[in-house]
Amino acid sequence: MPRIAKNLNTGLTADCTELAIDPETGGLLQTRPAFGGNILATIVCADTRPQMATVRPRVMKALEPDENRKGEIEIIDLTPEDLSSRTEVLEFNPLDEGEVDITEAEIIVSGGRGLKSPENFALLEELADLLDGSIGASRAAIDAGWISYPHQVGQTGKTVQPKTYIAFGISGAVQHRVGMQSSDRIFAVNKDATAPIFEFCNEGYVGDLFEIIPLLIKEIKRRRKS
Ligand SMILES: Cc1cc2nc3c(=O)[nH]c(=O)nc-3n(C[C@H](O)[C@H](O)[C@H](O)COP(=O)(O)OP(=O)(O)OC[C@H]3O[C@@H](n4cnc5c(N)ncnc54)[C@H](O)[C@@H]3O)c2cc1C
Repeated sequence: MPRIAKNLNTGLTADCTELAIDPETGGLLQTRPAFGGNILATIVCADTRPQMATVRPRVMKALEPDENRKGEIEIIDLTPEDLSSRTEVLEFNPLDEGEVDITEAEIIVSGGRGLKSPENFALLEELADLLDGSIGASRAAIDAGWISYPHQVGQTGKTVQPKTYIAFGISGAVQHRVGMQSSDRIFAVNKDATAPIFEFCNEGYVGDLFEIIPLLIKEIKRRRKS
């Protein structure tokens, strides 16, 4: 992409977390974290065309395939050299056992400052195990040392797109939201009815997570038995 942008003599904003169109100018508003993630900068390509941006993986949903669209197939003769990569694999270091890759998870059970202590992540783990899900966390929980960084969801953590994201005791700050807003369904439990997460979740429950999680665990176990 940088090479194409350079050849077209235009700009490129890489790794955007949001795209929008300026209704007045029709320009593409390209938002991405800048200065080490300390601000969200909205960048416009005012003078040159085309406007080019790349998007951080999983920030946006892929469109459903449209079978009605037809493309023209152009056969190009390529030599084996054209297809050979100049990238050389020097080493392959798989994740250690116990390390997590939440970006591939279909269900994420996530905890924030509302969990109050590292021990309470055991509650989340029990629920996540029952649902065959992975554990996510807000930066507040990571910074408090309650759980390790690979679990962090958000602007300075992982961007995830599970089928189900369940947030317990997470307020829904914009830096968290950009990492999980494309999840298929977002459930939130928070004791504060004005928490921002209620503005963008699919289903929200105002209540105490310490009451709701044990009830959920009990109910799932009961249903599995019957
Ligand atoms: C440059 C920068 C980058 C950042 N990157 C990230 C990032 O990648 N990811 C990220 O998550 N954040 C990030 N942040 C931090 C972000 O701004 C928020 O501070 C953070 O997400 C807050 O985490 P939280 O929701 O767990 O905590 P809080 O905002 O403190 O929210 C805790 C919530 O728990 C609720 N609660 C408390 N007790 C209970 C209970 N018993 N039952 C139910 N609910 C309860 C409260 O009502 C509250 O809404 C970043 C910030 C900056 C400046």
